[in-house]
Amino acid sequence: MNDRISDKKIIDLHAHTYPASKCSLIDPYEYVTAIYKEGAVVATITNHGTTLANHMLKILFEQKNILFIPGVEVSTQYGDFLFYGSNEEFLNKLSARMDFPFSLLPRPDIAVVWAHPLMGGGMSGAVYSDSYTDVLRGYVDGVEIYNSHYDMSAQSIEKTRSIAELLGAAKTGGSDCHDVESIFACATRFDHEVTSAINFIEQIKNRNTTPVRNHCNI
Ligand SMILES: [Zn+2]
Ligand SMILES: [Zn+2]
Repeated sequence: MNDRISDKKIIDLHAHTYPASKCSLIDPYEYVTAIYKEGAVVATITNHGTTLANHMLKILFEQKNILFIPGVEVSTQYGDFLFYGSNEEFLNKLSARMDFPFSLLPRPDIAVVWAHPLMGGGMSGAVYSDSYTDVLRGYVDGVEIYNSHYDMSAQSIEKTRSIAELLGAAKTGGSDCHDVESIFACATRFDHEVTSAINFIEQIKNRNTTPVRNHCNI
C-alpha cells in the first residue's frame, strides 16, 4: 500500500523520543523535522509513562503548523496501551509500568489503543491471553494492527484484526519508531481530516480508521 503521508488524514500513532523514552534514538527536534518533511499535518507522541517531551513538542509542532495530539504508552498486566488526549492531568497520572487504570476509564476526552497485543507488555512482561478481551471490552477504543517495531506475520496480523473485532474497536497502525528511518513505517488513515484532539478521539471511538503500511517489512 502506498499511501501518501501528505494526505492530511494519515497519522503515525506510535512514536518514541529520547530522552523521555530511553530506548529511542530520536530527539524531539529530529522527530518534528522528520514529520514536517513527510508533509504530515497531525502528529502524536507516545513515550513510556511520561509527558516530559510534550511541552517542547507542542511548541515545535505549533511552529510548523502541525496539530499535536499528546499520548503516553503504559505497560500493564494485559500488555501495552497508548492513551491519547489533551487532558494533561489524566496523562500525568500514568506511568511506564502500572495496573490498567480501569477506575479512570472510559472517558470521552481520552482514546485508548491496545498496542501490539500479541507481543505482550514490553516493560511489564505481560504475556498475551485470549481471556483479556473480555476484561478489556468497553475500556479499549482501538487495537494496533500494524507496528513496524515488531516482526508481525500475516497470521499475527489476522489474529490481531480478530481481537479488534471482538472488542468492537478501531483498527490502527503506528510505527513504534525508535529511529528516524522508521517514522511512518506504519500509520493510521482517518476517514475525515483530524481537526482537533477531541475530533481525533471521536474518530477512533467511532472506528473511523484504517491501518496503513508504507515501508513496513511485514
Ligand atoms: Zn510497547
Ligand atoms: Zn512503543
